[in-house]
Amino acid sequence: MIRVSNIRKSFKDHVVLKDISFDVNEGEVVVIIGPSGSGKSTLLRCLNFLEKPDVGQIEIGDVKLDVNKANRQTLNKLRMQTSMVFQHYNLFKNKTVLENVTHALVVAKRMNKEAAKEVGRDLLKQVGILDKQNQYPIRLSGGQQQRVGIARALAVNPYAIFFDEPTSSLDPEWVGEVLRVISKIASHNKTMIIVTHEMNFAREIADKVIFMADGVIVEQGTPEEIFDYPQKERTKKFLRDFH
Ligand code: ADP
Ligand code: MG
Repeated sequence: MIRVSNIRKSFKDHVVLKDISFDVNEGEVVVIIGPSGSGKSTLLRCLNFLEKPDVGQIEIGDVKLDVNKANRQTLNKLRMQTSMVFQHYNLFKNKTVLENVTHALVVAKRMNKEAAKEVGRDLLKQVGILDKQNQYPIRLSGGQQQRVGIARALAVNPYAIFFDEPTSSLDPEWVGEVLRVISKIASHNKTMIIVTHEMNFAREIADKVIFMADGVIVEQGTPEEIFDYPQKERTKKFLRDFH
């Protein structure tokens, strides 16, 4: 499972995460919603140490640590437990689609190149773009690029995948295909945390929804609890303003 306990994070004197605790069971999909600036991206980045939290404990799969007591080896292990899908894809522009997917396998996992290509092609098939394997990202639509991003995230077979607004930069016509690929991965019981503003998608895919505002978890529950019967005024206001 993933267990996040009492995470705090400040940038200078701006407290961005105030005391964040939540659990994600193995195979669960947790969706995080909330207004812009509420700390959602910072939270995901703290969980894989793209940002160092100020205090707190993080457990992901079989790695468990206190953020101020962990040695480098434990931190590297934690980082290997997850991969991230970004809003702006962050693909390597000078690598082909297939090389984008196999890069971490060859460099971090030291897999031989031919074996890595086999894995890479299988993943590209899963996300429906095997025919683009030798293209460069710039030749692909936004939806295709994001599907490469997802295949790349899957390549290292992480314990969990984090998605940070995976469809927010896409033209509307490409949103559906990316959401369908994410749903397909979820159906294989991959543990996932997804930050999104796609409320219908959130309702369909989430086992649990977390509503964040101003650096705190205001409310969490099933999609029905959060979307149909929100308890907190802040949640109600967010959902009202959103429609
Ligand atoms: P969200 O993803 O919910 O929109 P973010 O986590 O991106 O929110 O940002 C939360 C707050 O933290 C914002 O006020 C943002 O300006 C601030 N912030 C995020 N990253 C940094 C940084 N590297 N340095 C300073 N402030 C930051
Ligand atoms: Mg964000």
